[in-house]
Amino acid sequence: MSGLRLMAVHAHPDDESSKGAATMARYAAEGNEVLVVTLTGGERGDILNPAMDIPGVRERMSDVRKEEMAAAAAILGVRQTWLGFVDSGLPEGDPLPPLPEGCFALVPLEESTEALVRVVRDFKPHVMTTYDEKGGYPHPDHIRCHEVSVAAYEAAGDPEQLPGTGEAWEVSKLYYSHGFIRQRMQLFDDEMIAAGQEGPFTEWLAQWPKDRGEIMERVTTQVECADYFQQRDDALRAHRTQIDPNGRFFAVPVDVQKKLWPTEEYELARTRVRTSLPETDLFAGIES
Ligand SMILES: [Zn+2]
Repeated sequence: MSGLRLMAVHAHPDDESSKGAATMARYAAEGNEVLVVTLTGGERGDILNPAMDIPGVRERMSDVRKEEMAAAAAILGVRQTWLGFVDSGLPEGDPLPPLPEGCFALVPLEESTEALVRVVRDFKPHVMTTYDEKGGYPHPDHIRCHEVSVAAYEAAGDPEQLPGTGEAWEVSKLYYSHGFIRQRMQLFDDEMIAAGQEGPFTEWLAQWPKDRGEIMERVTTQVECADYFQQRDDALRAHRTQIDPNGRFFAVPVDVQKKLWPTEEYELARTRVRTSLPETDLFAGIES
């Protein structure tokens, strides 16, 4: 299917390249419009790639992250827009410190929802993707990303709500993208060990939280996108301050991934069209 519109809502620049990136690259390549909405500027992200911890980078971090985002979007073949909120940072310590004043997670939900509804009513997506209620991982901006996406999905189609932000538009479907899948990591780890290498995820798997539950039980939709894994990795590497090219994200060769797990996983959270589960296409049930 082509000529449809997909909108992916993400908390920080780089999230779009690690969650559902190959799916977006595929839909874009097939002639659909794909828009990434990045809620914050990632201002509080640290330099996570030692090779980029060099003079001149930290001082202009906000610009650097904009350049990285533009490069990643170009690689994926998607459009991208900023919502302009400020990164809340990941609070650490016991007890946790208060969130910094003015950060995204503290902005009243009505305010961030209005900003997102404005983009929804302008772009008119058929499908929206976001994170689940736990944020995929417990960063306050990721949890907020979930909340604002669900609120915008509900509000954008209601002409009574938020007048002055454009004509009402009903998004047909809302999905949560699921990236941290235990079975997938186990398969990759076993394969690498069998090939005589170190298991890149052995440590993570040993510490897997028992209360996390089995995410695959929530997955309704698996999108085949192996042909775009290379693009996904290139986009992720374009976030040069955020990703160590020698890190475990890239430890499993793309060919091995294509063979063992050629899909990305989603959970259909809301729908206004009829579809039957399981699905292999985010646009299933939508007529263009
Ligand atoms: Zn993030």
